Amino acid sequence: MSNTVKRNEIYEGIVTDLTSSGAGVVKVGEYPLFVQGALRGERVKVKVTKTLKRYGFAKLEEIQTASSERQDAPCAVYDECGGCQLQHLTYEGQLEEKRQLVQNTLQKIGRFSTIDVPPVLGMEHPWRYRNKSQVPLQYVNGRPAWGFFKQRTHDIVPTETCLIQTEEADRLLEAITNALPKLHIPLYDEKKHRGVLRHVIVRKGMNTGQVMVVLITNGKKLPAKDRLIELILETEPNVTSIIQNINNQKTNVIFGNESHTLYGEPYIYDTIGDVKFQISDRSFYQINAGQMEVLYKEALEAAQLTGNETVIDAYCGIGTISLFLAQRAKHVYGVEIVKQAIEDARINARLNEMDNATFEVGKAEEVVPRWYEEGIEADVFVVDPPRKGCDATLLETIITHAPKTVVYVSCNPATFARDARILVDGGYQLEKVQPVDMFGHTMHIEVVAVLSRIEDEK
Ligand code: SAH
Repeated sequence: MSNTVKRNEIYEGIVTDLTSSGAGVVKVGEYPLFVQGALRGERVKVKVTKTLKRYGFAKLEEIQTASSERQDAPCAVYDECGGCQLQHLTYEGQLEEKRQLVQNTLQKIGRFSTIDVPPVLGMEHPWRYRNKSQVPLQYVNGRPAWGFFKQRTHDIVPTETCLIQTEEADRLLEAITNALPKLHIPLYDEKKHRGVLRHVIVRKGMNTGQVMVVLITNGKKLPAKDRLIELILETEPNVTSIIQNINNQKTNVIFGNESHTLYGEPYIYDTIGDVKFQISDRSFYQINAGQMEVLYKEALEAAQLTGNETVIDAYCGIGTISLFLAQRAKHVYGVEIVKQAIEDARINARLNEMDNATFEVGKAEEVVPRWYEEGIEADVFVVDPPRKGCDATLLETIITHAPKTVVYVSCNPATFARDARILVDGGYQLEKVQPVDMFGHTMHIEVVAVLSRIEDEK
């Protein structure tokens, strides 16, 4: 592609698409310019800020014709903060963008031309949905402040509220931040690797109301510990767990390896449907509990369990999907690479008095073939892999052993489309792809898909 577009030039055009990071696409001839803040269908004037060989970036100068779905972002720091990408689009508009993203990805990457992606299952109230806030604290103009990073920097954009986190998190972060000078608790300085308080994490069991506060400190020392605990409990009486986690490493990783309970229990509880989960400071748990239930109900329906089925749940995490399905299956086998997650899964099985779930630490692509050798035959095979998708060996194992139904839960439409194509070429039919919105105001989208084995003609 010969590119004649130059930096600082002004162009006018129509936005034809949104990228997977939420930027509008304006084409100059064949050359795409990515324009943050521009929406599909809008006529815009843009100024080129950077050109690469195959694409470039431009700044939105003027909206000449605005989309009917455009709205003022409710958040006061939306333009600076790197957390959300779609607040300038109505929630209905966001859901439709995400539906099209899934549909286009299935066509482009998976070569599925006939599948119709249904409307995204969205939240009834798309605000205050995150059950976990992981918040860095920094001095801004000499005062302690909390907030989230500006895109591609480690500089926080100070705020007093974040509309996608809980009100408890807002109140606790405000109270803690404002009390720090009085309590003589210094903030951690990333550049000098000095100071005390690095991050505050607030987690809430959305269905139980229990709140956990984790204070991440650069070393064991936490001055005025008792007064800080008092302040937290006064601010939010629903706090049932306060943890100090020590991270004295020079690293971007938030948690260190050592945790101490300062108040209450070392965990909180939450429920999904009738299943109860114990969540400790470092446990992985989906961040949108309400939508997680919507997603799991879809998975449960897809699995069509009668009580006689054997289910394999590869990439099972702390066993959330496994235990949800174990309510209706004969037996569920879960495998997961993180040892701590499997320990949590076993605790959660016991907590729910479920003895029909077996969990094993290991790589799905190694453990599952061994299970088959041992004679475990799955009727329903669930995968919920990380963003990079399923391991090729695991897909081969599925195709060889041909479980009747595969339920594929994915947080990345691109790798899902790739893997679904492999399964379909291996004898499956793609029955349904249902997107579920777990992450309102960001471009992230979750899908749950059902594939069924095509019966051999005899
Ligand atoms: N189903 C769970 C977790 C899904 S996230 C839930 O909904 O909570 C994907 C999980 O796959 C992570 O917990 C990650 O640790 C795990 N994982 C990554 N690679 C893996 C592999 N090769 N084998 C098994 N598990 C793996």
